[in-house]
Amino acid sequence: MLPQWTPLPLLLLLLHQSGAASFCTKADQCALGQEIKPVAVPVPAQARYDYTRIYQVELASEEHVRLFQALELASDSCSFMGHARVPGQKLTIMVTAAKVADFDDLVHSYNVTHRILNHNFQALIDANYREVAPEGTTPEQFDWKRYHPLESIYDWLDSLAKKRPEVVSLLDLGSSTQGLPIKGVRIAFGKENLTSVFVESGIHAREWIAPATATYFIDQLLNSEDPVVQEMARSHNWLIFPSVNPDGYRYTFQGDRMWRKNRALFGICRGVDLNRNFPFHWNVTGASGDPCRYDYSGPSAGSEVETQRIVQFLEHNVQSERIRTFISLHSYSQMIMFPYGHSAERVENYQDLKEIGQLAAQRIKDVSGRIYKSGSIYETIYPSSGGSKDWAHGHLKIPITYSYELRGPADSEDLFILSASEIEPTAGEAFAALQTIVQEAGKRGYYQ
Ligand SMILES: [Zn+2]
Repeated sequence: MLPQWTPLPLLLLLLHQSGAASFCTKADQCALGQEIKPVAVPVPAQARYDYTRIYQVELASEEHVRLFQALELASDSCSFMGHARVPGQKLTIMVTAAKVADFDDLVHSYNVTHRILNHNFQALIDANYREVAPEGTTPEQFDWKRYHPLESIYDWLDSLAKKRPEVVSLLDLGSSTQGLPIKGVRIAFGKENLTSVFVESGIHAREWIAPATATYFIDQLLNSEDPVVQEMARSHNWLIFPSVNPDGYRYTFQGDRMWRKNRALFGICRGVDLNRNFPFHWNVTGASGDPCRYDYSGPSAGSEVETQRIVQFLEHNVQSERIRTFISLHSYSQMIMFPYGHSAERVENYQDLKEIGQLAAQRIKDVSGRIYKSGSIYETIYPSSGGSKDWAHGHLKIPITYSYELRGPADSEDLFILSASEIEPTAGEAFAALQTIVQEAGKRGYYQ
């Protein structure tokens, strides 16, 4: 390997000595006496984040808030994780390489306290792609030590339904915007008159830990040898969808690791944030009307195919399957949250959800030492509207409704790029918390 600073004449000499003929064009007759046919090497159009930096800024004043609100609107070289809202807030911003000098000047000019969490985000992404199981991985090789593409997850679900048809049935919500199936499983050990737990995962494409955690849940419910888990698995039926945004998830492997939305086309930009698209207090806060933004709520409430698939499935099954628990899986920030997101208004069983959420967070602390915050979405993370759990609770009246923000912590240096070595501990603590939620809700009479 040549050092990066090799001067050009030396480089030419070295190439010449090694017999390389790559400087000959068709017009040249310099090389080995034969015409070199140009070989078309397809360059994949994949988003890159070389020398993209991650900054964390602290907004000390109203002036800072206005400054960063203006910056978010003005520059698509800065991707915000959340929006500038209030003084005292910490905000994580991804800044592309070409914008770094300008951004650094800005934070110094306005005395914004800041920290650089990462200097070259691509390195993290490269490492993460190396942790993906190769194409052709069989269902027997499926595991939680690597991340899996959509096809492998679906093959694994298919194989479960084939192997254990008396317990597992394959569900398909229908096809996505780009024609992929939205597959899940129903796990039922055969007892009559049970209530069901619905798990929705992967609605945000780049949050890879979410589908990995959902498949871990499925595996535990089917294969755990822990009698407590076996008892819980058999006391409910389970409806689990590892990736309800399959187009987006596939695109994070092929196009852009940081993609969040679905892949519907709107003029020059793609994608609706499906978790801003649900038809309940749609687009009132914490969502954008601009298709080029990461939290675009869509052209109308429930406009997206994927949203409609989930809505129809739940409306059709909420009574017959007795769905009393709704869980959605996201990352990152380590939180266990309940409705609402669109306002500070408290849901009717706020006190129960608050207490159960705190017990679930305590369970995680006991299991792994990790600190998860619990509270309503509005109080805990930031106001947002059109989320699936607000709709599930507010419209469908599913009483026990939580959404997880899985690892890492709110000030994570890795954002959504969680190392595969963290899949098992993350999914394990999330599953422990799920057990607590279900046990506590049962004690309080929600499943009678
Ligand atoms: Zn999310």
